[in-house]
Amino acid sequence: MALDAICSECGRILEDAFRYCPWCGASRDRDGLSSLVEGACGRIESLYRTGMDSRISDMEARLGEMENELNRILS
Ligand SMILES: [Zn+2]
Repeated sequence: MALDAICSECGRILEDAFRYCPWCGASRDRDGLSSLVEGACGRIESLYRTGMDSRISDMEARLGEMENELNRILS
């Protein structure tokens, strides 16, 4: 079974027989695609990490606000 490739330009699946993407006309470039994927993975990973950090500090801030509100209600 031939592996289908994914167009590095439009992201659609290309049959292995195609040398050019039938959807957008980009030439197939496995090296370009793998470096693109690697770059995207690195970006997603760092986005995910910074996203988690900011979400956690966001939650901590909200928890602090809730605690203050609860103290006001209870006092
Ligand atoms: Zn394409």
